[in-house]
This record gives sequence, structure tokens and C-alpha cells, in this order.
Amino acid sequence: MPAAHPLPYLHGYPPELLEQVRELIDSGRLLQTVTRRHPEMHDIRTERALYDYVNEIKSSRMRSAPPIAKVAYDPKLHILKNALGTHCTVSRVQGSRLKSKREIRIATLFREAPADFLRMIVVHELAHLKERDHDKAFYALCAHMEPDYHQLEFDLRLWLTAQELAPAEPA
Ligand SMILES: [Zn+2]
Repeated sequence: MPAAHPLPYLHGYPPELLEQVRELIDSGRLLQTVTRRHPEMHDIRTERALYDYVNEIKSSRMRSAPPIAKVAYDPKLHILKNALGTHCTVSRVQGSRLKSKREIRIATLFREAPADFLRMIVVHELAHLKERDHDKAFYALCAHMEPDYHQLEFDLRLWLTAQELAPAEPA
């Protein structure tokens, strides 16, 4: 009997759920199942557009968070290793003062992703402006900003799993 697919993006989800995912993989229906649930793509291609998009969500749902200096698509970001994105405070010395700047980096993979997943990852990164760790308070904040957050994160993990199993054909 072949070893079951390890499903690294779905670590921690209940075994019976993973069993259903393996069935979708085995029948070749994982990607279509996810994209059918999230058919709409976004058109946020440039960093300027991404910056505006992030700030729009921030000002409507998390007004009190500190301002963001920079938003970027980052081709070097590895989703799995960096737990769905990174958020960081870059310290820069300016004269004798140390200035902190908030930056949000989104893996370039999200540039060609369903709109729901870009929104989910932006909510995730915005929540990190207030909560550093992936703990209860962090996820409560995510769900406050996006009521469907948990379903979206699960579906994103399914999508990432599908991408990894069947990489896009080179153009
Ligand atoms: Zn995170």
C-alpha cells in the first residue's frame, strides 16, 4: 500500500478531514473543488495597488493599528516555512534615532490567486500588526476582520496543496 500523502499544509487538522482531502487528491478533484468555491480572481498586480488594497481593509476593519510604511509582493517568501506570510518591523537608524517601520510582505504566489485568498492573507498580516504569535487572540482578531477567516484559511491550504501536487505548466 503506498504511503498516504503527508499534506504538510494541513498539519493539525482532524484526521477524518484529511481523509476527505486525500480522496479528492486521489480522484484528481482537489483543485477544481477549491476553485469552484472561490472562482473570482483579483487584479491587484502592482505594489501600489497592493498597498492601496491593504490600507483599504485596514481603514475599514482595523483603524487603530499602526500605519504601514511598505507593502510588497515578495518572490522569495516561502509560504510553508513562513507560516502563510511574514510581517516584520524593520529598524533603521536615521541620524542618531532608531526608527521602526512596519512592512507587510505577501508571497508573490498570491498575485495570481483567487480574490478570497488575497483578502485572507492580508487580514492575516494585518492581525500581526497587533498580535505577534499564531495564538487564540490572533485568530480572534482575524475572525473579527473576516468572519469567514477559518474556512478561507483551510481552503487556501487546500489550494496550496493542489498547487504543489500539480504545478502549472510552463507558459
Ligand atoms: Zn502569521
